[in-house]
Amino acid sequence: MDLSNTIIDIQDITYRYEKENALENINLQVPKGAFLGIVGPNGSGKSTLLKLILGLLKVQKGNIRLFGQDISRFKDWDKIGFVSQKANSFNTGFPATVQEVVASGLTKKIGLFKRKTKEHHHKINQAIDSVGMTAFAKQNIGELSGGQQQRVFIARALVSEPSLLILDEPTVGVDAKNVQSFYQMLDDLNKKRGITLLLVTHDIGTITDKVTHVACLNKHLHFHGNTHEFEELRGKEVTDFYGYDVHVLNHNHDHEHEYGGSVL
Ligand code: ADP
Ligand code: MG
Repeated sequence: MDLSNTIIDIQDITYRYEKENALENINLQVPKGAFLGIVGPNGSGKSTLLKLILGLLKVQKGNIRLFGQDISRFKDWDKIGFVSQKANSFNTGFPATVQEVVASGLTKKIGLFKRKTKEHHHKINQAIDSVGMTAFAKQNIGELSGGQQQRVFIARALVSEPSLLILDEPTVGVDAKNVQSFYQMLDDLNKKRGITLLLVTHDIGTITDKVTHVACLNKHLHFHGNTHEFEELRGKEVTDFYGYDVHVLNHNHDHEHEYGGSVL
């Protein structure tokens, strides 16, 4: 494999919290420009893997290289944007506008009380535009729907212009009818803006026409390949992995609990 094009290189990672391993012998490479969907049942180690990549958990066994550099020496965290699982939990009435929330993504760069330059304002507006939220820029974040709030958090992650964006189950809290357009927005970020995306999701049936690669995780990496290979694998093996056929996966989030309660 051509490693010069690899922006995440996970080498034989095993991670243990207390008594039990959450991840075992994970090997995974993410090439520049990829849109990787990571799927797996609840408790399968998806968030743990993301936290290791983000340096929020320390590597115990194995190694991770980011942008060609050992994670222990990696300093360029601005290159990586992250939207966590529980980002969209603002109460109505939270006193910050969309612009202010997105601007907070630049705080590290410009300091809390320093004046924003024209260029900063431009970056903020551009990030808001890239998630389709321009019409809501002056609105309070608390007044928006879950899906709209999630777009704002993505804009906040994008404002420092990362080349890699990592999302942990971003459609939790997004209305079923808005999930497709949400994924279309991610697809645009990937294909039009060239941002490499790493997406943990339950919506495997919905994303196969968007993602370029799929990884199936359940402590071990059960499958990793491009979307075409994944489509071929559908049927028996995937049924074994999930406990039922992904074709019957209901895209309505009201049914998400069924997924969590599946065989694995
Ligand atoms: P997923 O994101 O796929 O639902 P997680 O990575 O959150 O899975 O969790 C993987 C396993 O590690 C689960 O068994 C979970 O209970 C365990 N785990 C996660 N976080 C902790 C923690 N902070 N301390 C102990 N065990 C944890
Ligand atoms: Mg998780």
